Amino acid sequence: MSLIVQKFGGTSVANAERVMNVAKIVTDTYAAGNDVIVVVSAQGDFTDVLVEKQQEINPQASKREQDMLLAAGEQISIALLAMAIEKLGYHATSLLGWQAGFDTSSAHTAARIKRVNPARIQDAIDRRNIVIVAGFQGVNRRGDITTLGRGGSDTSAVAIAAAMHADLCQIYTDVEGVFTADPRKVENTKKLAEISYDEMLELATLGAQVLHNRSVEMAKKYNIELEVLSSLTKAPGTIVKEKTKMEKMLISGVAKDTEVARISVMGVPNIPGIAFKLFSRLAKKGINVDIILQSQGHDGKKDISFTVARSHGKTAVEVLKDYVLSQGASEILLDDHVAKISIVGAGMESHSGVASTMFEALFDAQINIQMISTSEIKISVLINEDDADQAVRAIHRKFFD
Ligand code: ASP
Ligand code: MG
Repeated sequence: MSLIVQKFGGTSVANAERVMNVAKIVTDTYAAGNDVIVVVSAQGDFTDVLVEKQQEINPQASKREQDMLLAAGEQISIALLAMAIEKLGYHATSLLGWQAGFDTSSAHTAARIKRVNPARIQDAIDRRNIVIVAGFQGVNRRGDITTLGRGGSDTSAVAIAAAMHADLCQIYTDVEGVFTADPRKVENTKKLAEISYDEMLELATLGAQVLHNRSVEMAKKYNIELEVLSSLTKAPGTIVKEKTKMEKMLISGVAKDTEVARISVMGVPNIPGIAFKLFSRLAKKGINVDIILQSQGHDGKKDISFTVARSHGKTAVEVLKDYVLSQGASEILLDDHVAKISIVGAGMESHSGVASTMFEALFDAQINIQMISTSEIKISVLINEDDADQAVRAIHRKFFD
């Protein structure tokens, strides 16, 4: 007998028929002799609907009240799913985040899970109940409801899997697994049978949108094997784990991130300390910097360009403007019409020519590269946002066709 955690996203429980479908998957797993803990998200885009309701009343509402509202979606799903399971003749216990023992930090709307005390979950399991837990939510030290940030139920599922030492954590969604690129936009994409945590983490942060990146971090930390699969088809999904067998796989995916902006500081003095002073100012404001490029320097001047999250673009310019101009910079420019295209693959560590193949694909498509950055398992380029989809297709074709 195994202990299996199954997480179902919003589309998987969007209506009565889908809820019954999930109840069938869950009870089949239970009937096969497993203990099952289910984590569910709010139905369909119900969380967005709640956000709209808040906007109508008070866009500046306190985060405590936002959490009180947002956590409601998952309460509906767990009750409906428990009822569906009862209808199929099985015993189910639904639990809200606080009942399931989710202790979090106090950071409303972006809380961190501190620990999971699974006493009530364990108790229900001991009574051979199927346990259904509300994803995305917990409770802070004061006893107030918190949420984990949008998309957070994946992380709830992995946290339970870790706390309960589950044998497997399945993440059911509306795609059949992790693909080499977004199958809705790119032709001939392939579903990966396996992917490593590190590769998945890169893809998750790069906007591949299959898994919440904190859930992958947590799965890696506690060595929880994940399976990403569809609740609507019976096809096998993608396994996410530490070491994959597929060493042959040179690259595992092409991802696009349009939530970026580029800032260029032109003509600052070519002396020690400038980069330090620039980036420490941003760090103090909590602004993360990604790709950084510094020019060689000429006539005692140099240019520094870097990327930040698009939502931070304007603030970053404000934070730096006075300082860089006082240092003699000729200008500071913001371009928020850029996109970051990346290829990820553990295979590139031991193979040469991966970067040149990517650049060749961009050259063939006549797409100009503004910046480049690399890590052991990733190569990213910054390009004009208008070229982003075409770039992904061209790169994908080059590696996978
Ligand atoms: N319902 C929440 C959201 O829409 C959490 C989740 O789906 O993971 O963000
Ligand atoms: Mg999700």
